[in-house]
Amino acid sequence: MKLYEFQGKELFARCGISVPKRRLVRSFEDLETLDAPLVLKSQVLSGGRGKAGGVVVCDDNASLVQEGKRLIGSSLKGERVLALLAEEKVDILQEYYLSFVIDGELKKPLIIASAAGGMEIEKVAEEEPEKILKLSFDPLAGPSDYHFRRIADFLSLRNELKDLRKVLRAMYALFNQYDASLIEINPLVKTSAGLIALDSKINLDDDAEFRQKEIFQEFQEQQNVIQQNNAKAKDEGTITYVPLDGNIGMISDGAGTGMLSLDLIRDFGGEAADFCEMGGLTSPDVMYQAMETVFNRATKELKSLLVILIGGFNRMDEMAEGIIRYKNDHGLSVPLFVRLCGTMETEGKKMMIDSGLPVFDDLEEAVEKAVMAAEGE
Ligand code: ADP
Ligand code: MG
Repeated sequence: MKLYEFQGKELFARCGISVPKRRLVRSFEDLETLDAPLVLKSQVLSGGRGKAGGVVVCDDNASLVQEGKRLIGSSLKGERVLALLAEEKVDILQEYYLSFVIDGELKKPLIIASAAGGMEIEKVAEEEPEKILKLSFDPLAGPSDYHFRRIADFLSLRNELKDLRKVLRAMYALFNQYDASLIEINPLVKTSAGLIALDSKINLDDDAEFRQKEIFQEFQEQQNVIQQNNAKAKDEGTITYVPLDGNIGMISDGAGTGMLSLDLIRDFGGEAADFCEMGGLTSPDVMYQAMETVFNRATKELKSLLVILIGGFNRMDEMAEGIIRYKNDHGLSVPLFVRLCGTMETEGKKMMIDSGLPVFDDLEEAVEKAVMAAEGE
């Protein structure tokens, strides 16, 4: 389960990591009650909000209301923004990156630290790997003072060692106590008042839900409130999206087809990540948006994507166009299994094959392959 920034910061605050004063805003009326200067931050599950225009510094009340109205209800990286975090504006001396993750290859937890904070860490890793420190530690013993001092030296934060140690200890406590697969602070900032977590990214391990029922329930309820709002505010009215618990993304062009696909996924031993339905008379844009929605709003990490299309009114060449456009813009992070038939089927299939995307004639075969891919076979 991925947490929103406001939820992660709540956990940070509970365990003693300093975070800015903040308030969750969900309506235009709430905006009128705020006092500048503040930073308005779109609450969506994907990162890179700053770059995409979803984090805005507002220096006066007029711009707070204006920017807030612009952000609420807007679409950010395919997700509808229906909550903002209105946050105290912090005077930043320097931005750092810190995270606790599980390294699948090493089969060990890692601390990752960098003084190149505020940027995408994947990019730093690729272009300037020397700016990143990775330290593994014993999962039972936890990180030791040696780790804290190594990190403080690497970040040139020797004078802030005490503060840094407190942050790292608290991150480890969260990581451990809540079975997190990721606790990331990017950026952690140095200020005249000490170290403050300006952002939060927390993923809880779905496989641990059975022993973390309370925290999953608390955060899921908060997310439902926001996402129900989200569904109501969708003005396109064409895409129905309901998040589910599994790891196989599912898109269909009809509710009946969607229900059938969910049943088949289960019959083959898989679990769907969503019910996403586009209606039976749709366009390349809607197909594209459906893919954006499924990738951006999945609460668990997707392992495969199944698209089941039955062209009655729907044109398969148009559906293929939407899928291919999405692939060209964003790439595909998981294997895609498309079954299409009906109107303009031959053209649609040819377009898919020309773009290197496999298509299936047989519904069950497509479902079975998607389930196998999700199981890593
Ligand atoms: P994202 O990672 O999704 O882009 P962040 O929360 O990291 O969002 O914000 C992006 C940038 O905006 C940060 O690197 C920081 O420079 C700035 N920023 C975020 N929150 C604040 C704040 N409360 N005060 C001042 N600057 C902020
Ligand atoms: Mg960030």
